[in-house]
Amino acid sequence: MKQTPYWLDSVEPFRNGAAGPLEGRADVAVIGGGFTGLSAAMALAQRGAKVVLLEAERVVGGASGRNGGHCNNGLSHDFGGAAARLGLERARALYHAFDAAVDTVERIAGEEQIACDFRRCGKIKLAAKPAHYETLARSFELLHREADPDTALVPASKIRDEVDSAAFHGGLLYRKSAQLHVGRFGVGLAQAAHRRGAAIFENARVTAIRRLGGTRHRISSARGEIEAAQVLLATGASPQAPWFFRRRLIPVGSFVIATAPLTAAQLDRVMPTRRNATTTKHIGNYFRVSPDNRLIFGGRARFAASNPRSDRKSGRILEATLHEIFPQLSDLPIEYCWGGSVDMSADRYPRAGERGGIHYAAAYSGHGVQMSVHMGQMMAAVMDGHPEANPFRELDWPAVPGHFGRPWFLPLVGLYYRFKDLRS
Ligand SMILES: Cc1cc2nc3c(=O)[nH]c(=O)nc-3n(C[C@H](O)[C@H](O)[C@H](O)COP(=O)(O)OP(=O)(O)OC[C@H]3O[C@@H](n4cnc5c(N)ncnc54)[C@H](O)[C@@H]3O)c2cc1C
Repeated sequence: MKQTPYWLDSVEPFRNGAAGPLEGRADVAVIGGGFTGLSAAMALAQRGAKVVLLEAERVVGGASGRNGGHCNNGLSHDFGGAAARLGLERARALYHAFDAAVDTVERIAGEEQIACDFRRCGKIKLAAKPAHYETLARSFELLHREADPDTALVPASKIRDEVDSAAFHGGLLYRKSAQLHVGRFGVGLAQAAHRRGAAIFENARVTAIRRLGGTRHRISSARGEIEAAQVLLATGASPQAPWFFRRRLIPVGSFVIATAPLTAAQLDRVMPTRRNATTTKHIGNYFRVSPDNRLIFGGRARFAASNPRSDRKSGRILEATLHEIFPQLSDLPIEYCWGGSVDMSADRYPRAGERGGIHYAAAYSGHGVQMSVHMGQMMAAVMDGHPEANPFRELDWPAVPGHFGRPWFLPLVGLYYRFKDLRS
């Protein structure tokens, strides 16, 4: 079994990284070569800025190349809960920001001719218990009326037309959701940023960011130093991020396995509609079919950090869950297993803006494939004098009490969610 993400194992790596040491001046330094940073670097270069991107390792080697490949619309929150907390208007605006984010991915893939198998497949949220279907049905009423007429309820009697498993009791369909090969998209995005003139420095871990005044900073990295008139922090929950962010971003492990390819006939039985699927449990799962017919099956599995040993352990839990859901696939070999770090905020809403002269976009909380690409574009507009482009500009962002960068409390959170999954 390979421990490389399937997405990165099935794409030619980016080969146009900048050579030589990092030195001199730039209009903008983008820190982090995931979707946020690459999308911003491309858009800023298109706007005429001299852009330098600094990536600690390889581009899309972080969450952007390690995720489940779902490019879903919709909030990670129940729409009614979001409306109760933020007001209907704001909740609707944030919901529609995710619609716009899926459109942004589709637009960029089309304009830049990135062959990434982008497909508007829809997403089905699967009720893991009969009571969960009742909750979905209540949520659907408000959502369908106020924000998304392209949603539909799928009752228990019809759910096997979507996913052939006895484990589910109905579902909620989001027709606007999409999927893509995130490795091909990410490398294509890096090529597009390079074509527009952004200099991409890989193996250039940033070790210090010193403010010179206003938004001007001096940045030290493993490949040299640079002075930039503006900085965009696009690192997710990096241990090198300034203190303000380490107190607010919680790195949470998430894990994925990929099976050997299924035959078309097997898939027609198991997942006839080939949509993205997520389950309603707190410690739930997400799955879809890859362009070469593998089942890409992910989940939190354990509340632990990702590293090779932890990924293998989580992979075994995911394999057992996959067999519970699809006992008919228990002979199917698992060929890939990997993990990554999800950057969460305490309330699971993304955050973006400017702090201490540094612009940032982060905290996509597991819904970042679409939003990171979109926020890269939006932050380019913000940094070019259009703060209104930031859909998250009005959200405050208090520190997480007791959190100083290492999420010591995650095992307790895991226990709490396990208990909730047993009870409700
Ligand atoms: C296992 C898993 C499954 C997921 N599944 C989904 C999904 O199906 N759908 C969905 O919408 N979202 C999903 N997500 C979330 C989504 O992948 C992320 O929200 C999104 O990719 C974040 O992009 P980013 O560019 O902000 O961060 P990243 O892709 O993490 O990029 C940040 C980059 O910054 C670099 N960096 C860090 N520190 C430094 C430094 N000091 N100097 C220079 N560079 C640095 C890192 O090396 C990294 O390449 C998943 C995440 C994981 C981990």
